[in-house]
Amino acid sequence: MPDSISPQRPLPLPDPLSEPFWAAARRHELHMRKCDACAALAYPPEIACRACGGSEAHFVPVSGRATLQSWTVLHEPPSPGFRDRLPVILAVVELEEQARLLMSADLVDIAPGDLRIGLPLEVRFEDVTDDCTLVQFAPAER
Ligand SMILES: [Zn+2]
Repeated sequence: MPDSISPQRPLPLPDPLSEPFWAAARRHELHMRKCDACAALAYPPEIACRACGGSEAHFVPVSGRATLQSWTVLHEPPSPGFRDRLPVILAVVELEEQARLLMSADLVDIAPGDLRIGLPLEVRFEDVTDDCTLVQFAPAER
């Protein structure tokens, strides 16, 4: 484990349903579960489609472009592993592929004073271990 990684920082634990999402993240790709019956995208991945109830689905790549919908700024570390990353900005973003396709993720490379609803964002990937890549968002370079 690299020196820069604090063992106290919690990391996601993929389950069988979400493993394809995390496998794509390790390749620095953002994938969403797409319903085979109605083509609705879902995040987080769920067994049954929220739109039609269908259970057959596969993962597809998406653009990684999103807009900022909501956020919380943490000035105290939620756990000791975040002490060198303050302030932590926890955001809810809407992916451009589908209305109300929301993801929660950390925002990086932006000051809290520059946050505004609708801010264009793009996905970023942070390799934290050989097995874990975190999905984050940053202001879009466009
Ligand atoms: Zn569906």
